[in-house]
Amino acid sequence: MFENTSRTELSSLGEFGLIDHLTKHIELTQATTIKGVGDDAAVLQFENEQVVISTDLLLEGIHFDLSYVPLKHLGYKSIMVNLSDIYAMNAIPTQVLVSIGISNRFSLEAVEELYQGMLIACKRYNIDLVGGDTSSSKQGLVISVTALGKSNKEKIAKRDTAQVNDLLCVSGDLGAAYMGLQILEREKNVFLSNQNLQPDLEGYDYIVERQLKPEARKDIIELLATLNIVPSAMMDVSDGLASEILHICKASNVGCNLYEEKIPIDPLTYDTAREFNIDPTVCALSGGEDYELLFTIKQADYEKIKNNSDVSVIGHITQASEGAMLISKGGNQHKLVAQGWNAFGNNAS
Ligand code: ADP
Ligand code: MG
Repeated sequence: MFENTSRTELSSLGEFGLIDHLTKHIELTQATTIKGVGDDAAVLQFENEQVVISTDLLLEGIHFDLSYVPLKHLGYKSIMVNLSDIYAMNAIPTQVLVSIGISNRFSLEAVEELYQGMLIACKRYNIDLVGGDTSSSKQGLVISVTALGKSNKEKIAKRDTAQVNDLLCVSGDLGAAYMGLQILEREKNVFLSNQNLQPDLEGYDYIVERQLKPEARKDIIELLATLNIVPSAMMDVSDGLASEILHICKASNVGCNLYEEKIPIDPLTYDTAREFNIDPTVCALSGGEDYELLFTIKQADYEKIKNNSDVSVIGHITQASEGAMLISKGGNQHKLVAQGWNAFGNNAS
């Protein structure tokens, strides 16, 4: 894609040179894209669909740490987190806009790495990158991505439409990205205390990859369409399962019973949590950045989904007066609480 090997200062290209360099290989594939990069605005044309749009801001030192996050992965992930929000509406993402603020600490080659990750993500998920903005920044790296998608009015899945007796479902497994982060932080600290020690990530591949290179669940949206299921409510799991379930319950004015034993946790996540003296369930409930889909379905749809290994039924919706409850493995009821990552606390997400 890009062929530079030595360090090239960004100042040697200037803003327009940089934009041109980064975007010249973009090929547009979406029928809804009329005009992409190169004018004052992109031009899109949607026919009878509703358009969904979402944006995310990623700040160096708050949302990512470049001491262990490769720029290519960061580019990929910054697109994924936005696509995940579009899929969470039961919509198909079609375009993204990418804005970056970069300091002179970064070379052209570094920005190319970042863009490579973004463009790989766009290609893999069939998304057109149709514009953005580029600015210098005094210190860190700033990335803002806006994603657009489309869906039929009848298929859009919101948070406020879950109904009593609906089944609560989640895709994939939870807590892995959080444990991957713990591993990366641990190895960073080892390295900082002795720079002769190389990070040892062996055996932790799955959870480290879940942290560094998450995948948005396009496949689940396609599965639901194939099975002819429209979720009664849906959102993506970015701040931990507990926090997201409470969002759905509050928005829909319902309660729920969530069964601890049904929460999907990968064995590696489980073992690593134990190694860190963290309760694996807490890790699934309160860890962040899973980018799985949490959704509710009608009981009548259960037969269609019950044999799918990528979807777990983890509970059901109850009356608001019954509250949002976690039923422990021992059969005790606890009020579900969110300790999800607080954007203004130590760990932002
Ligand atoms: P303006 O002066 O209107 O902000 P720019 O010169 O910043 O326009 O942008 C020129 C074109 O390049 C526009 O189509 C814009 O969307 C696009 N663009 C700018 N920065 C980026 C970027 N980082 N990634 C993709 N497209 C970009
Ligand atoms: Mg601009």
